[in-house]
Amino acid sequence: MPGPIDLHAHSSVSDGTETPAELIAAADAAGLSAVAITDHDSTAGWDEAITAASGTGLTLVPGMEMSTQLDYASVHVLAYLFDPTNAALMEETARVRKERLTRAESMVRRISADYDLAWDDVLEQARGTTVGRPHIADALVARGIVTDRSAAFATILHWRGGYYRPHYAPTPLTGVRLITEAGGVAVIAHPGAAGAARVLTDDVVSQLVDAGLAGFELHHRDNPPEQRERLQRLADRYGLITTGSSDYHGTGKPNRLGENSTTQEMLERIVDRATGTAPFRSEPRAATE
Ligand code: AMP
Ligand code: FE
Ligand code: FE
Ligand code: ZN
Repeated sequence: MPGPIDLHAHSSVSDGTETPAELIAAADAAGLSAVAITDHDSTAGWDEAITAASGTGLTLVPGMEMSTQLDYASVHVLAYLFDPTNAALMEETARVRKERLTRAESMVRRISADYDLAWDDVLEQARGTTVGRPHIADALVARGIVTDRSAAFATILHWRGGYYRPHYAPTPLTGVRLITEAGGVAVIAHPGAAGAARVLTDDVVSQLVDAGLAGFELHHRDNPPEQRERLQRLADRYGLITTGSSDYHGTGKPNRLGENSTTQEMLERIVDRATGTAPFRSEPRAATE
């Protein structure tokens, strides 16, 4: 029996705590048969992940988790196997990364009025290309102001915590179009999570399907049972792909690799639908005896 397929994991390119090579090593150690690297708004980890996967027997699915926003709710769209040189998609994600940086600086300026925290503290924590609240959380932890990321998100970094600032992101419709036009496969990440579930009405879902939406991340710890039932009904109605994944962030979140998984059949549907990039299927290193 091949190991589980986990199509949602972050590295230190965004807010995971492990480098892409360490993430691949963790996926191998967890016994996965396939893993996707899906950093927020960036493909900067792909090359290192592919190199690290070589010889492990793992299938690596290059991907990204694109930030989009609708009616103040954050909607994350997983993008698989798109062309990483597609100009329109790369320009849009570069814009999001730039605006995330300005936004993080603005949040830190507000926080520094009340706490001993400087922008340099955050820059020390953000080792990749995409800066987010998790790096502010790590800086707050390093300063001894909170105990861990979860505590930071529950208080200072909470959207009602008094320091929150939004950042620019395209609409889900634009995101799905850009991903699809780049030859990629668009799957909405944790669509049952509170904010996303509010804005993903039947009407919006229908529009997204028309724009090229391929599927839903059905099995994710943030999707409550009643949402999974609704999402499965919508998936049946439109013949959508359904996935399950961990949303691993290393030690940055409790989510463990393989805690949810995707069937081989669904992975094949993703691969068949993509025209931008092929998955990297590595052969296991020959045993030396
Ligand atoms: P941002 O996109 O900068 O607003 O930050 C949202 C990111 O923070 C998401 O990618 C989540 O992975 C992460 N996040 C949200 N809540 C938590 C939490 N309680 N603990 C750790 N990370 C979190
Ligand atoms: Fe994240
Ligand atoms: Fe997400
Ligand atoms: Zn994620």
